[in-house]
Amino acid sequence: MKHLNQLDSEINGQELFFIPTMGSLHKGHLSLIENAKTFGLKTIVSIFVNPKQFNDSSDYEKYPRDLERDFQSLNQLGVDILFTPNEDYIYGDNLVNVVDSGNIGKKYEGNSRPGHFDGVLTVVNRLFELVKPKKAIFGKKDAQQLFLIKEYVKNEKLDIEIHEGDIIRDSNGLALSSRNQLLSNNGLVTAGGLKRHLDTLKEIYIETGSINESVNKTLNTCQDSKLDIDYLHILDKDTFDEATEETRNAIIIIAGKVEGIRLIDNIDFKVEL
Ligand code: AMP
Repeated sequence: MKHLNQLDSEINGQELFFIPTMGSLHKGHLSLIENAKTFGLKTIVSIFVNPKQFNDSSDYEKYPRDLERDFQSLNQLGVDILFTPNEDYIYGDNLVNVVDSGNIGKKYEGNSRPGHFDGVLTVVNRLFELVKPKKAIFGKKDAQQLFLIKEYVKNEKLDIEIHEGDIIRDSNGLALSSRNQLLSNNGLVTAGGLKRHLDTLKEIYIETGSINESVNKTLNTCQDSKLDIDYLHILDKDTFDEATEETRNAIIIIAGKVEGIRLIDNIDFKVEL
């Protein structure tokens, strides 16, 4: 595996499948890479903890980092290029195009973390400029991020095919996340509640069709004081606006804090007539 801090002319002209990450890799990231590898292009994984998407500097500082272990995992998986740029290489020239994530970027996760999605789209756009991939893959775990990236690529008419990776969970249902390693064993058990809330809400919503009732009932059954729910929304997956009677592709998104660590999750499903 080639390890580059800057992208030299060696990568020019190659058809690349790009997997952007912030490192501290887990099986969720590895599944994206395995998925990408099935397309037969060269794979390039970036590891860059992007300061512009953290609205809280202590969250940025305590974000887990483990380049040595990541290098071993990527090497074993047969990734072609590991790209670990520094901040100066990404943002050094003042010509970086700062992307506005628009109306949807300010809702839900964007409402709780102001500027987060502007930071995400800005770095993704910059990485796309540098890597010039033919294809790129993002996880459904970060559903609002995936929606905004797909919209951005479509609106800007970028010639990059966006792929989606399924959410990988632990045996307790907890979606894998680099942040999970900041939790105690008890915290990990508590965090499993996020997925249970999603499942309960889906059931009630399908039964009653009523959004408010579903959300209220779910929040009322959420008695674990160690799980501090920030939001719970039923959305139309095609627009990322609140679900309506016309919604056929629904997605439920949830965010909460356990032991001070912010976690997000979602499930999507079809609404039958
Ligand atoms: P991150 O390192 O958190 O920025 O994530 C890098 C990529 O991995 C993003 O596209 C995420 O959506 C994806 N990802 C993170 N966790 C999971 C998971 N549990 N299952 C599948 N994909 C994931």
